Amino acid sequence: PPAGSPLLQVDTMTKRFGGLVAVNGVSFTVKAGEIVGLIGPNGAGKSTTFNLVSGLLKPTEGTVRFMGEAVAGHGARAIARRGMARTFQHVKLLPAMTVLENVALGAHARLDSVMGVDVARAMLRLDRRTEARLLAEAARALEQVGLAHLMHETAGSLALGQQRILEIARALCCDPVLLLLDEPAAGLRHLEKQALADVLKRLRAGGMSILLVEHDMEFVMQLTDHIVVMEFGTKIAEGTPEQIQVHPAVIEAYLGG
Ligand code: ADP
Ligand code: MG
Repeated sequence: PPAGSPLLQVDTMTKRFGGLVAVNGVSFTVKAGEIVGLIGPNGAGKSTTFNLVSGLLKPTEGTVRFMGEAVAGHGARAIARRGMARTFQHVKLLPAMTVLENVALGAHARLDSVMGVDVARAMLRLDRRTEARLLAEAARALEQVGLAHLMHETAGSLALGQQRILEIARALCCDPVLLLLDEPAAGLRHLEKQALADVLKRLRAGGMSILLVEHDMEFVMQLTDHIVVMEFGTKIAEGTPEQIQVHPAVIEAYLGG
């Protein structure tokens, strides 16, 4: 998709859990080549929004369009096949396997919530050519995120920040158009956050589009092109980092109440 064209269009999306309205008529757009941040206090509906966009949850009302096509309610696998890849908050790596193998397994497992021994077995059953192709794809993804020099180390020997970047390499193996990152900077040290931000900026420079949920304001402000702010299930503001920093409703949500 050409830079600046609408990639993900969320339109008046609502999600109810029984009587609780977790997401209430939220609309926003992610344009191709942008990094968009989704922020807001605890319980604002960020994770639910993420799960709706990636197809893990079905909206009660409203639509999600991805590359012009309605995808709401299609399920996570179908949406992943169309070019959306996501990471999860809790890193699931096979610590005794190499960085390269971990990424290749991700390439094989695609939507790998099943990541584990079964997947490793499945990998062993692959024919040589398929295996070689997956390893080449994995090496390319590691190159993209600047981890190629660590490909033969065991995943368990990496620092948390590098493991987080490895997760991103794994998501890149699906050849996604849009990356969804769930709190990628959580628990990282300052320098690790910087390294992660640099990786994401590099991906953006290569044409990748990214939607991220993040608590760390400094991280979000330095990285994103556009920010959507939620509180109590509704969108209370959106704009550039500069606009959001001085937005009265945002200041109120974070400092008030
Ligand atoms: P955030 O990620 O911004 O902290 P969430 O999207 O996790 O917020 O939650 C928004 C609201 O929806 C919260 O009140 C939460 O308790 C509720 N909620 C989230 N998921 C479920 C669920 N599966 N069932 C019932 N309530 C839920
Ligand atoms: Mg959450």
